[in-house]
This record gives sequence, C-alpha cells and structure tokens, in this order.
Amino acid sequence: MRVLVTGGSGLVGKNLTDYLSNNNIKGNENNIYHFISSKDCDLTKLEEVDSLFLNHKYDTIIHLAARVGGLYENIKNNSEMYFDNMTINENILECCVKYGVTRGVFCLSSCVFPCNPKSFPMTEDMLHDGQPHYSNKGYAYSKRHMQLRCDLYNSKLNKNYICVSPVNLYGEYDNFNLEQSHIIPGVIHRMYNCKKNDTDFNMFGTGEAERQFLFANDFAKSIIKILLNENIKGGVYNICEDNVNYKIKDVIYNIAKYLEYPLDRIKPDTKSLGDGVMKKTVSGEKFKKTFEDFNFTNIDTGLESTIKWFIDNYPNVRL
Ligand code: NDP
Repeated sequence: MRVLVTGGSGLVGKNLTDYLSNNNIKGNENNIYHFISSKDCDLTKLEEVDSLFLNHKYDTIIHLAARVGGLYENIKNNSEMYFDNMTINENILECCVKYGVTRGVFCLSSCVFPCNPKSFPMTEDMLHDGQPHYSNKGYAYSKRHMQLRCDLYNSKLNKNYICVSPVNLYGEYDNFNLEQSHIIPGVIHRMYNCKKNDTDFNMFGTGEAERQFLFANDFAKSIIKILLNENIKGGVYNICEDNVNYKIKDVIYNIAKYLEYPLDRIKPDTKSLGDGVMKKTVSGEKFKKTFEDFNFTNIDTGLESTIKWFIDNYPNVRL
C-alpha cells in the first residue's frame, strides 16, 4: 500500500503517527504511510495536490486535513470553513479518482449531523436528515458533500471510500489555542491560566449541554482497523463508545480535579455565546458490532494523560 495521510501535523495525524510506531505498523517498501501537512502541500490549490499525487502514486488515502475550529471559531468564520473545506475535499477526491486511489478513509465529524433529529442516538443513515446547527453550517455542509461524493464514486467507479465520523476529540498534540480550540483543550488551557492567575473560571455556557468524547489515540486506532478490514467497502462509521455521554459541566469538574483547581471557583455563565446544540448523541452501535473487542480509553485516564502532557510540554504546545 502507498498511503497518503493528509493532516499529518494535526491532533489526529500525530496520534496516528504514534499509533503506527507504537504498534510496529511501520512503513517498508511495500507499505508506505506518507504524512503531509500544509507545508508539504496546500490542499486548497489543485495544481499542488495534482503534482503530489502524480509524484507519489498512492493507491490508498487517509484524509484527515481540514480547517478545524471550536464553536466560536466556527460561528465567526462559517463561510471560510465552508469554502476552504469544500475546496480541500474536492481537490483530494478529484485526484483520488484521477490517479487511481482505490481505498480510503475520509474524516467527517459528529457535529455535521442534523441539530434537530427525529430521535437519539443518531445512526449513520441520519447524516443528511435535516439542517446542521447554524454555528457550524459551513463546516458541516463541506463534510456532508464529501460523504456524498465518496458514496457516488463507490457506486459508479467501484471505489472503497469509507467515511468515519468521530465525536469530540481530545488528547496529546491538541490545539490549545484559546480562540480556536474545542471544548476539552480550551477548558484545560483556560483553567490552567485561572489557576496561575488566581482567578475564577467562567464556564462559557450553562454546562448542561451533553457531549460524547473520544481519545484521539483511540480514533487513530479505529482508522487503521477500518482501513485494514477488507470486508468494509464503503459507508459511514460513527466512532464513539456506544451509549456514553457527558454533561459539559461534569467534564469541566473532572478537568479541575486533575489540574487541582478549586471547584467553587467554577462559575456558570448564561450571557456568553451559549451552549451550542444541547444534545447531539450519535450511535456507536455499528462500529461496536464490527469491532467487538475494541476497548475505548476511559475519560478519566484520557483526561489525566492529556493534562499531564499539556503541563509537561507547556508552553511548547499549540497555543
Ligand atoms: P487539526 O486542526 O489538529 O489539524 C488539521 C490538519 O489539517 C493539520 O495537519 C493541517 O496542516 C492540515 N491542513 C489544514 N489546512 C490545510 C491545507 N490547506 N492544506 C494542507 N493541509 C491542511 O485537526 P484534527 O487533527 O483535530 O482533525 C482531523 C480531522 O478530524 C478533521 O477532518 C476534522 O474535521 C476531524 N474532526 C476533528 C474533531 C476534533 O475534535 N478535533 C472532531 C471531529 C472530527 P498544518 O498543521 O500545516 O496547518
């Protein structure tokens, strides 16, 4: 296999690199995993993507690259999220077909599912059953469009393009930028600062919204399991531990425990930009049935190791 891995410098890309090397799934002349970042190729530029594929003759792809942001970044830059991600995904799929990539894993996200589904938990076939939340409309439609295109190529050109849809990710190598990060890395960094400066922690919302979380190393493992399982020919897989949901405030209290930050200094804030969608639970049943012995990392273990990594590496983390 000659595997192109886009998004190699990101949270998932770095965890995938670690997963492959920790499990001795190393590249050799028959099995090459080529990790790239935007420094190697700007995926918004078709001519750069075309020459990447022409030069490397990939037959397989793990497409992770995306312009990614948390709730506030998505609201602020909804249209840019749409255009950049549409362009990246279009260029990638165009070249996959042109240069004969037969198998691939393409990354969606649970937040691209409808915000008012007819029922919870949302199964994979409900992906297009209604509008995504206004806060990330641009990002969501770019991902949905990519899934549609994979599906059409699978039918028409006999490709094996599989879409994976993880829930909120967290872990080592995350983006801890205060403006652009997702829930867990954002809370870790802000609370770390509050502790240092002896100030209260503002929850930025009521903390009542429910979310699912996935340790990035588990996601990396699931990607490789799916890629290497030849019985899987296409379709969408939600990646999460089935039936495990948390209130955001409980996760915040948990983070406080590992950061040794006083719980009485955590204040709810109903005047902020809000909670986002209150619930967006997806079903992990399809994945569980396919990989019965897959063990997900418990959130306590995942948070403890992420926070330790953040403290040990601060300030040399993505800020
Ligand atoms: P990161 O923001 O950590 O990394 C994004 C990656 O995409 C980086 O390697 C970045 O390269 C690359 N990239 C961005 N723009 C371009 C471009 N124009 N050309 C080439 N490369 C580019 O993202 P994650 O690792 O968190 O996300 C990986 C995938 O998982 C994405 O598809 C995302 O939508 C999805 N996802 C993420 C979730 C999360 O909670 N983080 C949740 C659900 C889904 P560079 O470093 O050079 O900028």
